[in-house]
Amino acid sequence: MISKAMQDAINEQINKELYSSYIYLSMAAYFERESLPGFGNWLRIQAEEENEHAMKLYNHLLERGGKVELKAIPAPKVDWASAMDAVKEVLAHEQFVTKSIHELYEVALKEKDYAAQVMLHWFIEEQVEEEANATAILENMQRIEAHDTAILMLDHRLSKRKDD
Ligand code: MG
Repeated sequence: MISKAMQDAINEQINKELYSSYIYLSMAAYFERESLPGFGNWLRIQAEEENEHAMKLYNHLLERGGKVELKAIPAPKVDWASAMDAVKEVLAHEQFVTKSIHELYEVALKEKDYAAQVMLHWFIEEQVEEEANATAILENMQRIEAHDTAILMLDHRLSKRKDD
């Protein structure tokens, strides 16, 4: 039987995973509205994955004879200042989730809950991948932005050129 402390902490994490799904689904709609269907596709898939993360925790609780307590999911944002701003938020959110998973693991250690520890190893590895993916997309966008700036700088330089 799972401890009450472990059960409560897992229920909190289920809520965070569902909230992640909600944020990414909202962000997918934002990108599609902005005619960026590729980003929309990426975030639709991310949203489905977050739902699967919630279900892994949900199934673990049930297998352990625990009680699933679904809580209210906060409404996500619907607008972002730019594509870059949205991707920065994905990375920041994944960093927040990583911290939350680590805290959940701390509870599993404290409770000497070995089954939860093993189950959470998957999540710890998954977060390394999630952060790496979001970082790679953000870095590519920053390179594109730097390139735009380079074009603007060249444009400015060319404006100074005189007929000779
Ligand atoms: Mg997740």
